[in-house]
Amino acid sequence: MPPRGGMPYEHKKVAPPKDFKDLFRYLKEVFGGFFTRFFYVVTLVWASGKWIMFLLSFIALFQGITPILGSLISKEILNELQNIISSGALPASQFWTSPILYLLIFFFSYQLLLRIVNNVSSALNQIAGEKVVQQVKLRIMEKSKRLDLASFDDASFYERMENANREAGHRPLQVLSETFGIVSTVIEFISFLTVLLSVPGLWWSAPTVVAVSIPSAVINYVYRNKHFRYLRWRSKERRQMHYYSELLVDKDKVKEVRLFDLADTFIGRYLSVFRTYYNGLRRLILQESVLHIVIALFSCATNLTFYALIAQKVFVGEIMIGDYTLFTGAILSVSNCVATLINRSGSIYEGTLFIDNLMAFLKEPSSVLSPAQPAPLSRGIGHRVEFKHVSFRYPGTDRDVLKDLNFVIEAGQTMVLVGLNGAGKTTLIKLLTRLYDPTEGQILLDGRDLKEYDLKSLYRIFGIIFQDFGKYAETVEENVRFGDIHRQPDPELMQNAVEQASAKDFVDRLPEGMNTPLMRIFEKNGIELSIGQWQKLAIARAFYSDSDVLILDEPTASLDPMAEQEIFHQFDRLREGKTTIFVSHRLSSATVADTVLVLENGRVEEMGHHDRLMEQKGKYYKLFTTQAERYRSQSAQN
Ligand code: ADP
Repeated sequence: MPPRGGMPYEHKKVAPPKDFKDLFRYLKEVFGGFFTRFFYVVTLVWASGKWIMFLLSFIALFQGITPILGSLISKEILNELQNIISSGALPASQFWTSPILYLLIFFFSYQLLLRIVNNVSSALNQIAGEKVVQQVKLRIMEKSKRLDLASFDDASFYERMENANREAGHRPLQVLSETFGIVSTVIEFISFLTVLLSVPGLWWSAPTVVAVSIPSAVINYVYRNKHFRYLRWRSKERRQMHYYSELLVDKDKVKEVRLFDLADTFIGRYLSVFRTYYNGLRRLILQESVLHIVIALFSCATNLTFYALIAQKVFVGEIMIGDYTLFTGAILSVSNCVATLINRSGSIYEGTLFIDNLMAFLKEPSSVLSPAQPAPLSRGIGHRVEFKHVSFRYPGTDRDVLKDLNFVIEAGQTMVLVGLNGAGKTTLIKLLTRLYDPTEGQILLDGRDLKEYDLKSLYRIFGIIFQDFGKYAETVEENVRFGDIHRQPDPELMQNAVEQASAKDFVDRLPEGMNTPLMRIFEKNGIELSIGQWQKLAIARAFYSDSDVLILDEPTASLDPMAEQEIFHQFDRLREGKTTIFVSHRLSSATVADTVLVLENGRVEEMGHHDRLMEQKGKYYKLFTTQAERYRSQSAQN
């Protein structure tokens, strides 16, 4: 897919405060938005499994308490050793009854517990991660089922949906574990701060270490944000780079790239886009590292001062060696905690912004919906279709693709749609099948607006072959059965459908016949079909479906003339009693239709039976005779 503009990761921006009074509004919007998103994350994780919340709380408490516990035990061991050294060496046998041994046993029991909890928590975290991803993906898929097709045409919405799909899976758990991480960091911070405050005569080391750690943490945070914004800003370039590199390795594109000798051109374009992207990124990385070096000077000087002052206390016998390790360790822990707190808050906030994408996607309103009280829809009959002043434009565009269409297809009749590429034929079919609703006017089925029918029941009356029909990486049988998934699988009917679609010959030659897996995406023994063979399967789907209205949009475009002839013959049988709409470039098919509708630029140019339109000598006559002449001259040459 070609790269689209740089618009991903969009979320509602909060306008900065205009003055002091406006500050309240600003804070309310920022924090209000944050808490709404945060609450959503909590409900999401809760829905994925209540145990996840309990697990995360337990880990947070445990991880908050353990660092200080470890430091205190180490301190006791060192102090005990120092006591022994200062009272002169003892016989080796006394070691086994000394408190050191008990302290060591205690220390390693604590280490063992730490490892067990960390391992269990990491395993459970991974499992929880999978559960949350599944929950989010399910919500996205469930929502997609009801989403208007029009939403998929809106580039910015599509972008948001892709982001939600890609990001939202791991973000919720990340936000929540970071939040619990904050809880454990706060516990750790308070415990080590208390230790620092208790250093005799050096209580002021605590506020100084906190103050010195803030700039580095802030720079970290600011540059991570800058980095993130830079990547967002350069999103177009990143997509372009991806696009150019894909062009050279994509199986379908490599043919043209090779034959037209486009590889070096694309490599050149990749390099030029890369330079733009890389230059800005390099500047950011270097700036940040220079700032960190300056700050490191300050923090090293401060730490050196405190380490020296504490060492001096050991020197003069005021404190013991174990206290030295506890106090100096506390300096490092406090400054690490400050950095972690600032970074974690940033990443929680950032994580919740991604959740915005997901929430916006899940709240996207749908307009193509079933009514509360649907009208009954008869089955097994041909249906009458009427277009009344129907106009349509795709969302986000300013051009009517269909303009004031008025026509009727009587029940059981066949209409052929004729028109140049882009005339609006496929769009008309999308409206008739209620994939989209008209911008203006009404489409009636058996005298009632399409909107009055239950959507699922309505979809079920159509047997359709689209121009860009689906190719499913499933077995041949499944590809046919998807034509009517609600019917009890009927192998005989499927066989018949395959036969009617002239697909029997090639299906019989497949290694496992109807059970052959198609495409090589998942299965090593998957079979790749030609486009014409795929088209025959799409036709078989239509034959298998128990539909009342048959819609065929260029159903034979990829078939050879022999197969086309054969299938047209089968269509004649299939459409008996059914209302049929046919789009075909092969105008010979129009001769059998009850009505031919010629579309030009979204308007009805001509309409009527083939014979009458030929007599009129208008647009249709011109198209038909041009095509007939081409066939005549071709067969003459042959
Ligand atoms: P036809 O089937 O006659 O070749 P289509 O109905 O596919 O024509 O397209 C009619 C016009 O609508 C074309 O100009 C095409 O560019 C435009 N169009 C088709 N699909 C979309 C879409 N999803 N968003 C915007 N414009 C579209």
